[in-house]
Amino acid sequence: MELITAKHVITIDHDPIADGAVAIDGSTIAAVGTAEKLKTQYPNATIRNFDNHVLMPGLVNAHAHLDLTHFLGDDSNFVNWLVSMLKYQRGTQMAQLIPAIQRGMKQVIDSGTTCVGDFASSEATFQLAKEMGIRTVIFPSIAGGPGTLSQDRYESALALVEKYLDEHDPTIHAGLGPFAPYLLSRHLLRVTSQHAKELGVPLMVHATESFSEMEFFFDSQGAIGTELFPSIGWGNDLPPAFRKTPIQYLNDIGFLDASPTIIGGIHLGARDFTLLARHMCRVVFCPRANQLFSHGKFPWNKLHDNGIPVALGTEATTQPPDFNLWQEMKTALEGTLSTDTPTAKDLMHMATMGGARALGLEHRIGSLTVGKSADVIVVDAPQMADAHFLYDALIRQTTPLHVRLSMVNGHILKNQTP
Ligand SMILES: [Zn+2]
Repeated sequence: MELITAKHVITIDHDPIADGAVAIDGSTIAAVGTAEKLKTQYPNATIRNFDNHVLMPGLVNAHAHLDLTHFLGDDSNFVNWLVSMLKYQRGTQMAQLIPAIQRGMKQVIDSGTTCVGDFASSEATFQLAKEMGIRTVIFPSIAGGPGTLSQDRYESALALVEKYLDEHDPTIHAGLGPFAPYLLSRHLLRVTSQHAKELGVPLMVHATESFSEMEFFFDSQGAIGTELFPSIGWGNDLPPAFRKTPIQYLNDIGFLDASPTIIGGIHLGARDFTLLARHMCRVVFCPRANQLFSHGKFPWNKLHDNGIPVALGTEATTQPPDFNLWQEMKTALEGTLSTDTPTAKDLMHMATMGGARALGLEHRIGSLTVGKSADVIVVDAPQMADAHFLYDALIRQTTPLHVRLSMVNGHILKNQTP
């Protein structure tokens, strides 16, 4: 048994505990409480004391593209970025991708993130995640292209997901990630969704990120058809005007039946909130990507009022990409990117439990709860006038340099004890 004690313990599902502790039995959280109580309960435990620190669950980055760590996209607008990204993925060799993924994973670990949901373009991500020990939910990305390319990608993705499900690795998880509703046929979207439901794996898709997507699904107009389609060889293949929102389209083809997690969720019609809630969907908010492309206001209050869980993600759109979830929280807290700014406490919940729910791991990670995996971090206690401001001060002041300890499933990934 090991005890980690700290000045503040943030559990997420309860109020913070002053002079608290967590007892860890191998890979599992055995107890959470005051340090005094747990020291009495476990007199023979090994103790790590962090007198001026915060102990909390590791951050969960619900959405990243680690293989884009070395990619500098055309950020003049969102569709141009997508075109440059798809071109980069087609033209980059495995030998170049591996160091990029490694660097991205190192950034994730350094910043105190213990679990990342990653859209991956190759099996290398599974192997590297195993080597580095980080908990990863890997979505082999399925995007469109000429001929049978999208079907081939779908079949490869399915084979990878089934292979890693069979391995039962405690920290490597897999899901299905059709890239976006406008980049795959309705048939492939439906089949992917049915497979995710059948296998019991998370399903994730980019949807309702930009206004161009609304235009495309309503009247088959806009930059998706005129710029993106020609770049993937679909120049003359525009679909009819659906007269729907992207969410209505996904609902009508049965895609929402597998309760997907929606990356984006910015442009939503009034009925879309009801559809997302009814199908128990979750939404990933990526504040810095939203800011870069001026996507529009994230409808935080309406999602919250409809009981739709929200997570945070980094995407890979900053120049250069980084995977620091503290910076996403800070951008959301200080900016005007959403309707009604979430509070610091809301953001901390989104960056932990929200991410766990988005990735289908809410019973295993996301809070310091007895029986959950020992995925925890220790960071420097922030300067603050009063413990009442703990969440706010933590978000505004914490950088990767303040992360002292990071642990996944009881194994230490980072140890910079002062
Ligand atoms: Zn993305």
